[in-house]
Formats: sequence, C-alpha cells, structure tokens
Amino acid sequence: MYACGKYCSPRRCGFYIIAFLICQLVFIVIFMRSDRYDDIYASELLAYKNVSYLDWRAFISQTPETTEDYYQYNIELSNALGLIRKLPVTRHSSCTTRNPILPPPLEANVSVVISFHNEARSMLLRTIVSLLLRTPEDHLHELILVDDGSQRDVTLLDDLKRWMGGVFGSRQRLGLIFLRNEERMGMIWSRNRGASLASGRYVLFLDSHCEVNDGWLEPLLERLAGNANLAVSPLLDPIDPTTLSYRKGNEMLKGGFDWSLHFHWLKRQLASGERLEMPYQSPAFAGGVLMMSRDWFLRLGSFNPYLKIWGGESIELAIKLWLCGGQIEIVPCSRIGHIFRRRHAFDFPSQFDQQLSPAQEIYLHNSKIIAESWLDEYKNMFYALRPAARRIPLEHTYDELQRMRTERQCHPFDWYLRHVSPELRMHFDELSATGTLRNEDRCVHARHKDSQLILASCYLSDITQWSLLRQSGQLSTHREFCLTVGFGMRIALEPCGRNETARRSQRWMRLGTRLMHAETHLCLDNPLKERLEMSTCRSHAVSQSFQFALEMEGRT
Ligand code: UDP
Ligand code: MN
Repeated sequence: MYACGKYCSPRRCGFYIIAFLICQLVFIVIFMRSDRYDDIYASELLAYKNVSYLDWRAFISQTPETTEDYYQYNIELSNALGLIRKLPVTRHSSCTTRNPILPPPLEANVSVVISFHNEARSMLLRTIVSLLLRTPEDHLHELILVDDGSQRDVTLLDDLKRWMGGVFGSRQRLGLIFLRNEERMGMIWSRNRGASLASGRYVLFLDSHCEVNDGWLEPLLERLAGNANLAVSPLLDPIDPTTLSYRKGNEMLKGGFDWSLHFHWLKRQLASGERLEMPYQSPAFAGGVLMMSRDWFLRLGSFNPYLKIWGGESIELAIKLWLCGGQIEIVPCSRIGHIFRRRHAFDFPSQFDQQLSPAQEIYLHNSKIIAESWLDEYKNMFYALRPAARRIPLEHTYDELQRMRTERQCHPFDWYLRHVSPELRMHFDELSATGTLRNEDRCVHARHKDSQLILASCYLSDITQWSLLRQSGQLSTHREFCLTVGFGMRIALEPCGRNETARRSQRWMRLGTRLMHAETHLCLDNPLKERLEMSTCRSHAVSQSFQFALEMEGRT
C-alpha cells in the first residue's frame, strides 16, 4: 500500500485493482469458453465420424517436457487447445463450388508418412486426428508413424498405439504402421523407411506439427490423377508458434532456392486469365509437405539416402523430379496448417569440422551432395558462395551420385535454369563475379557489428560474399549494401542505390584483377595491410589485385 500510496490515491489504486481483476476474469472466461467450444466441436466431430471419444487428456498428461524452448512453440496452449479444433476456411470459395473428379479409391489412395523427433504429444495427436477426421476414409490407405529416437518420451509410440486402437479401431480399412528408431536416424532416413514400407498408390510426407484443413486431399488427388509424374504440395497455412493462431497462407509464393542452396520463397507471376486458386508450377516444394506417386518416388531413388539428418532433401527431390521428367505444382485449394518454428527444436549430432556448428556442417554436407550430383558446372557458383563446403568430406564417389542421371537420361542443370527457375538463372546472369574478394592472403570483409570494412582471414565462417553486378557495376554484399566511394575518397558500405545518381558513386569496373571506381578512376588498394584506400591505378601492383572466388566474365 505504501508503494501505491506514493504514486496514487487509495481510491484510484482501488479502481486499478478492480479493473485488473475484471480483465483477468474476462480473459479466463474467453479462454475456458474457447477450450469448451473446441471440446464440443471435437466430440461432435468424433461422434459424426462414428468413433468413440477416449480421454485424450490422460494421454497428453504424460508429456515429459513442458517448456516452450524445448518445442519452439507454445506447449501449454497446445495442450489446452484440444484434440481437434475448428479451422478457418482459408481457401478460395470457388474451391468448393464443384466436386473434384476423383478416380476410384483403389487407384487413388494415400499412405501418410509422419516422422517425428521430440514432438509434444498434444501437437502430434492433433496432427493425426485432424488427418483422420478430415480425410475421406476410402482414400486414406494407411498411416505410417516413425518415432525417430525421441529422447524423453520413450513410451509415446506404445501409448499412441493403444490410444489409436481404442479410438480408430473400427476403421477396418486403415492400415497403421508404428516404427521406432532406437537410435536417432534423422528425418530423411526415417521418411525413406516409411515410404519403403508404404503400400498406397501415393505417399504424402507430413510434419508432426500440422493440422490439415477440410477438403485438403481431394484437390491433390485430382491433380495427380491426370499426371503420373507430377508431385504436389498443398498450400501451407502458417500456424503461429506463440499464439497457435491459424492464418491464411500466401497463394502468390512459389518454392525455390538460391545459389547457396538455401530454400527461398519466390514471387508467383499470374498469367493473364490465371486465377489465384488455380494450381501452379513451382521450382521447389512448399517446404517439406509433399505428395506423389509412391512408385515414382522410389524410381527416383527416394530422398537421396546419402543426405544426413535433415535439410536439403526436398530441394534435391525437386531438382531430380524436374530434370528427370517430372513436375511440381502447388495446389491452393488444398490447405494444410504448419507451424513454422523460429529455430530448430532439435540438436544436430556433432561432426568433424571444429570451425562450423554441427547444423552448419550437415547443411554444407547435404548441399555439397546436391551440387556434386546435379549442378554440373554451376556447382562452382555454390562453392564460390560456400567455400567451407570444399573441406567437407563425402563418403562416396561422385560417379555414384551421377549414375541415376545417366540411367534415367535426365536433363543437364542448365535445362532447369532455362525452363523451371528463371529467377535463379537471372541471378546468375546478373553477376560478373561473386564470392569472397581476396587480396593476397586476406579477404575484404564487412564486419557485422558496425559494417566496418576490414581485411580478414578468408576462412572466417561468415566471411563476406560479394557480388559484382554486370549492369550497374555495383559491388554488393548479400545484405544489399554496396561498396561506395564518398566524400574525401572514403570507402564505405551504403545501401545499394536504385537510381542512376545514387549508383554513380557505387560503380566499379574491372581492369584485369584491379577494381577501378568509375567516377574517380582510382583503384581499390591495400597498401598498408588491413586497410583499404583509393589510389592511382598501377598495373601489376599486388596491393591493388583483388580476386573473386568466381569470375564469370569471359564465359561463353
Ligand atoms: N524430424 C525427425 N528427425 C530429425 C529431425 C526432424 O523425424 O532428426 C521430424 C520433425 O519432428 C518434423 C519433421 O521431421 O516432423 C520436419 O522437421 P522440422 O519441422 O523441424 O522442419 P521444418 O518444418 O522446420 O522444415
Ligand atoms: Mn515443420
């Protein structure tokens, strides 16, 4: 009271306390109502589908770990949300105006493979229950669950088996396969294992923190029925990891990747007359949720089995699909909610290289396999941007990686650039040089904390990668900062100019290995070691010789 009295009168203070209590009450009522509402919805839906309602709360009460940090989403809210909840309709209204034309179930049934590692019980259950209640029974052939060595919940799979037997036991047609890797094998291995045991016509790979929305399967089946070599992604609706709110995904995005082989969203261009909700081709899948013919998947060699743990597998599959006679489409009338987590919720096993984190090393290992198997001469682009990948050992020969390409008479990577991903090709064509910028044994580096330009060891794991742009002559970092010569010949990083005036002080020209600033005709120089200056251009001056990891000038 004393503290309060110091700042406000007792009457006012009382008012604040009452207001605070009312807010709390309103919050609790809303929270309980939505919980009850979801419970009612769940039991009605379960009754409608003719399955008994067992106490799922007892099942989730066994969740061993309860921190948000462990799962990278709001676990308490997930536990409170219920077994299944109503989801907003996020697809276009025209998706439901006609019934999809589906082949008979025997010709169009799906095996769903879910591999999970340390997933919260409530989240996994909601994924499974949403799938079983929102998928036409005749077309859902089987569910294959792979527990990839989850650490703190060793009874999860057995409990799940029991729970599902009780709740969905009446479904004669549904095959259930439960697998557990005693030792963690990684998502890639586990998905391949699941697919190798599947017996449906199609296989769908699903993450363990998803909620499928109404009518998700039919539009996918309809597309696949017309084209045996097609693979499809639903449009992923993002579920917020903190609030678990289900939002509408963006139909204007395609899946793609950059020259470092990192996944990126790309802008979709609508052709004239093309409607937003129509299926559209995509250079890569929308994340890791994808469906295709099981037979076609196996003939393509599954996810490349040399890839370790997690990462790169859907990019690898996308490239080989396109190059070996397949296509990828995203189907906006099919919606699946997915939690996009901000960080990995799992560790990567430690590897050989002390300078890289295990996650970085596994990513580089997997990307190097993709580059060596599929990128042909363009792999130099990858190595220029990821020089540390050169040090990563691979345990098998490159011939082995390339064998399937020859057997299946797959196109060269150039074909992918010309026909599938003009964005990637454009990025390549825009460049006249890229990668680290070396002067003797040091590299030009833009320090992260203050954007200061220094000369540093070329082996720093985050050493700056530069791009010399063919048209504008700008020399940019991937953060869109450009090397600029300003007042008093000061060299600095500034936001890359978009118009001609702004660009004038950022234009560079190549004189052999020298970099001449177009406006001043002076050359970049390192006369004193570790310090950049502008000085008169001198041929053969070692201090003015700057080499990029990859120079494209002069290529045909
Ligand atoms: N996963 C797995 N083993 C691993 C790593 C991940 O089975 O070693 C599972 C994970 O539980 C999830 C799926 O693989 O169901 C995809 O992983 P994640 O969701 O982390 O990938 P993202 O969605 O971020 O691409
Ligand atoms: Mn995921």
